[in-house]
Amino acid sequence: MLTFLKQYSQRLQHQHGWEAELDCPACGNHGLPDYAGWTPGSTIHFGTRPTILVSVSCPRCDQDLKQQAGEKLIEFFSHVTTRMRNRRLITLFISLLVDLPWLLCAVIWAGVQLGWWGHTAFLALNRLTLLLPPAIFWFNWQIHGARRCCECGQPASVFMGLLGRSYCYRCSTCGKLLRLRD
Ligand SMILES: [Zn+2]
Ligand SMILES: [Zn+2]
Repeated sequence: MLTFLKQYSQRLQHQHGWEAELDCPACGNHGLPDYAGWTPGSTIHFGTRPTILVSVSCPRCDQDLKQQAGEKLIEFFSHVTTRMRNRRLITLFISLLVDLPWLLCAVIWAGVQLGWWGHTAFLALNRLTLLLPPAIFWFNWQIHGARRCCECGQPASVFMGLLGRSYCYRCSTCGKLLRLRD
């Protein structure tokens, strides 16, 4: 179980980084910025606004290039759509979360009205909520599995930031872009 949990957290872990060239507005330098790790973001921007967690600066004059990174992220990813499989999983999950309890409630309500069952049915419904954590677990596992495979055969997804609420990755090996929602 422990190794499984370790695998699970590794699968969900982001490999932060920045491998795209940027223009420095201060000195005009164009090239790969200096990358100085990342900080957890306090706010995630909604809509189509970028959230950059990495610290990048100009290698020549030290100018902070976070804003330029945000613009680059939009340039890279605004035309990238989340994959069909990702969208299907989200639709499936939302319908599970929304529809299934309602359906169960309706069935139980009808059952109670018609005198089919009583207290045990409510208990059964209650138990069903226990299924929720494993369902979220499975869902995240499925979604983030996409980062572990790439057409180039050597997947190395680098997390560049968020665009709206979707995660933006670039394969370090082949440069392929990947956008994920969870
Ligand atoms: Zn500069
Ligand atoms: Zn690749």
